[in-house]
Amino acid sequence: MFDDNHLISRLARHASTAPDAPFARRADGQPDVSYGALFGGAQRMAAALVAAGLSPGDRVAVQVEKSLQALELYLGTVMAGGVFLPLNTGYTADEVAYFLTDATPSVVVCDPSRADDIAPLAGAAHLFTLDADGQGTLARALPAPGTPFAAAPRGADDLAAILYTSGTTGRSKGAMLSHANLASNSETLVDYWRFTPDDVLIHALPIFHTHGLFVATNVALLSGASVVFLPRFDADAVLDAMPSATALMGVPTFYTRLLDNPRLTRDRAANMRLFISGSAPMLRDTHEKWQARTGHTVLERYGMTETNMNTSNPYEGERRAGTVGFPLPGVELRIVDADGTPVDRGEIGVIEVRGPNVFQGYWQMPGKTAEELRPDGWFITGDQATEDADGYITIVGRAKDMVITGGFNVYPKEIESMIDDIEGIAESAVIGVPHPDFGEAVIAVIVAENRAMTEAEVMAEIGSRLARFKQPKTYIFVPELPRNTMGKVQKKALRETYQNLFS
Ligand code: AMP
Repeated sequence: MFDDNHLISRLARHASTAPDAPFARRADGQPDVSYGALFGGAQRMAAALVAAGLSPGDRVAVQVEKSLQALELYLGTVMAGGVFLPLNTGYTADEVAYFLTDATPSVVVCDPSRADDIAPLAGAAHLFTLDADGQGTLARALPAPGTPFAAAPRGADDLAAILYTSGTTGRSKGAMLSHANLASNSETLVDYWRFTPDDVLIHALPIFHTHGLFVATNVALLSGASVVFLPRFDADAVLDAMPSATALMGVPTFYTRLLDNPRLTRDRAANMRLFISGSAPMLRDTHEKWQARTGHTVLERYGMTETNMNTSNPYEGERRAGTVGFPLPGVELRIVDADGTPVDRGEIGVIEVRGPNVFQGYWQMPGKTAEELRPDGWFITGDQATEDADGYITIVGRAKDMVITGGFNVYPKEIESMIDDIEGIAESAVIGVPHPDFGEAVIAVIVAENRAMTEAEVMAEIGSRLARFKQPKTYIFVPELPRNTMGKVQKKALRETYQNLFS
């Protein structure tokens, strides 16, 4: 139905050759929803979007709970030639307002419980609702099953999605991802990780982020695998699904929580062939404990919203703890100094990547795009790393000062600005410190102006304006922040001071 440049033509290949094959399975492994039903649903979504006014290239902004219907909405948007724009379900109305103003979608889809908040922000866009059970005004707008739908042709470089990443300066940037960006990366991963129609992937990641939406979903679809589609991560639900599953993709927090659960045993993991981790660094300790407990060696990979996946430990061969492995086939990677000159092997530098996986730039931010994407195609990731003698890449830090808590990225600047605006506060520094469950926990170190302030006062100001995952776990009041001679706050010193706060 589409030419081969179209992401959907590749994702739907299995649906056309084996429509009755299961896409979704129940936890006990029994088939639930077939490939044919999933893509049939996607086609109806596409028709409803077009009827609501969607033209090729239009954005569809979506803040809904995870469900198979939400996946159909993703596929339907791309089928209709639209650009899928998923939003973290934790974003507050203030945050959503920014994305809608910036991306000017022609269709907005939200949970029915948010409709009153979102409606005034949607402007001229058509507003639909969709709940966790697939009900809402969007479900009511779907045409009858089997209604034919003429898909919009798209070229390889046309956009399929925009995913917002938080900006270091507080403003989020929309990473523009083309059909070819997404298709090429997923095809590489299917081969590299050996996914086949026999695989059953436990899908417990959110689908508003590159990991759950593209890595997990697109890899499953492209390979013809099936998924146990869990609404959210829950250790017991993952363990229930494990005996009849073959693969899990998770953030390190999944693995630490599973290790905390006595039901995780070698027997329970006996049918599994692959445990993949990414989105944040996995501690060597977690890697080793997982090996000892299950007999499986976690395969760690590294990627980001702007580039899809860049590196992976090998499927065969040593999966080296603490490293993110080698550049994926087709992905060029170099580690460079501040001038962009490659550093010697073993030295620390910033990772740059180039290849069909690298995005098309930031939505309506040519200046930001030019700062991070070189004219010859190299993308400056901001991740600091080294390469060892065998070619394994190890990430050692983040030039951009980002905190990753429970797999979610938090940019301190955004929280600092909000705290600094509160009356009675002089300044603040937000940092990440080691946390046994979240990997890193966000904490705020605050200097009050001239009166004693309390944690409750700060929380009352920012609690309703900031997504929960971004909110500091602790507020520490100090007389002054450590600074260097240039007047810069020494976050490194703060991280050292508070490194054992949660241990
Ligand atoms: P995101 O755009 O949300 O996917 O976040 C991307 C960032 O997460 C990267 O730039 C890295 O800083 C970090 N990241 C992803 N995977 C890993 C990993 N395996 N180890 C260390 N950091 C990682």
